[in-house]
Amino acid sequence: MSRPLRVAVVGAGPAGLYAADFLTFDGDGSVLVDVVERLPVPFGLLRYGVAPDHLNIKAAGNTLMEVLERPDVSLYAHVAVGEDVTVQELRERYDAVVYALGASDDRSIGIPGEDLPGSVSATSFVNWYNGHPEATPHDLGDVTAVAVVGVGNVAVDVARILLKDPDELAPTDVPHPVLEALRASRVTDVHVLGRRGPQHAKWTTKELRELGELAGVGVVVDDGQLPAEPPEGSTPVAKRNLAVLRGWASREPFQTPRRLHLHFGARPVEVLGASRVEAVRLERTSPAGVGTGQTWELPVQRVLRSVGYRSAGLPGVPFDESTSTIPTEHSRVVRDGVARPGEYVVGWIKRGPVGILGTNRKDAEDAVASLQADAAELLAARPADPGGLAPLLAERGVEHVDVAGWRAVLELEEQHGVPDGRGRVKIAEWNALLAAAGVQPRP
Ligand code: NAP
Repeated sequence: MSRPLRVAVVGAGPAGLYAADFLTFDGDGSVLVDVVERLPVPFGLLRYGVAPDHLNIKAAGNTLMEVLERPDVSLYAHVAVGEDVTVQELRERYDAVVYALGASDDRSIGIPGEDLPGSVSATSFVNWYNGHPEATPHDLGDVTAVAVVGVGNVAVDVARILLKDPDELAPTDVPHPVLEALRASRVTDVHVLGRRGPQHAKWTTKELRELGELAGVGVVVDDGQLPAEPPEGSTPVAKRNLAVLRGWASREPFQTPRRLHLHFGARPVEVLGASRVEAVRLERTSPAGVGTGQTWELPVQRVLRSVGYRSAGLPGVPFDESTSTIPTEHSRVVRDGVARPGEYVVGWIKRGPVGILGTNRKDAEDAVASLQADAAELLAARPADPGGLAPLLAERGVEHVDVAGWRAVLELEEQHGVPDGRGRVKIAEWNALLAAAGVQPRP
């Protein structure tokens, strides 16, 4: 019998774990997968991107856990590729390497004042409420009005979390300090800003609809920008979204303690303030996004830019700065203009930061199909087992979090909320995660 194929997957988010799933589905030991993750815990955007109140999406964690529990899959969390081990070392020790790095950086708007204190990325806000171990705390103490720039699903998430009754978040896994900060929040108005017409918004209808169901929150739609009928060429999703928006715009005026304002044809051109955010200057645009020169100011104390994610490259792997992706052909990395067997890419670092969880599953299936097509050639190229990562980490004294450690974190998180009468609550600090996993912090 020939030896097993050794595969390293870099990144333990949904895309990487779906790839591990397809690679080891048979469970016959013919493929061994090591999943390497920089953070102390796996699950990537499922844990740190998906909003805490979207429990049905979070349930995908059960499938991902089942993959990690397989005998043919090993987790190496708290191991940074590029620091603890190089890409070259991985390529030497595995028959194939799959890059599943995701897109965790944020994009900027590119306007003056964007870096004023109080103007931050939605990613940083999402990281905070999701208990990311590298998040910085968000103090909402002096904030009553917030501008959210962008009309995608992340904008919907942050607007909802800002406006939702915190008591409804208490049963979720949001960290205690986050829940306390949201309870103390005095935010009454959230303005979501779309730079084109509403038919171009990127949000999906289910997510949009949820905004109209928040207790104590009135939705104010900028109906001057709403077309009477869906413009020609509108997608089915755009038509459904417009119907939802028209429904809200036709509601009777209301008195609610908190309000969500949806603006369209409103492009931010400057964030204003002497020493911190005091307002955003907006320019009226046509439905296609062309500026009219007419501007106005919207007073807010916080700006959350929610204009999309961006991937970062990895030393030793080709990277296209213009698209923030690793160049590929049929999921194979293109090096020096050639796509060769041995290196593959899945998820947002291949496709760009678009699509829902299920998109990554199909994407991983495609990448694994390319890898499997190359398997015989890869095995023939190296008659001896290249050995994997474990001996190298042992030699370097690099401790990692394995699946037992990850299970221990989850078990401790079950207990974490009990003193406050809550259910499972996330551990948010890096060293506390390591302690829960039984791993020493690095000196
Ligand atoms: P997105 O869907 O790409 O939306 C980005 C938004 O930012 C767009 O409205 C875009 O407008 C706007 N924008 C970009 N540059 C801008 C600028 N300079 N000034 C003003 N506005 C600007 O990104 P996302 O919301 O970060 O979501 C990323 C992916 O994750 C999406 O596929 C999303 O569906 C997914 N996601 C899904 C869920 C869920 O299923 N519940 C939750 C969160 C995220 P233009 O169209 O005019 O460029």
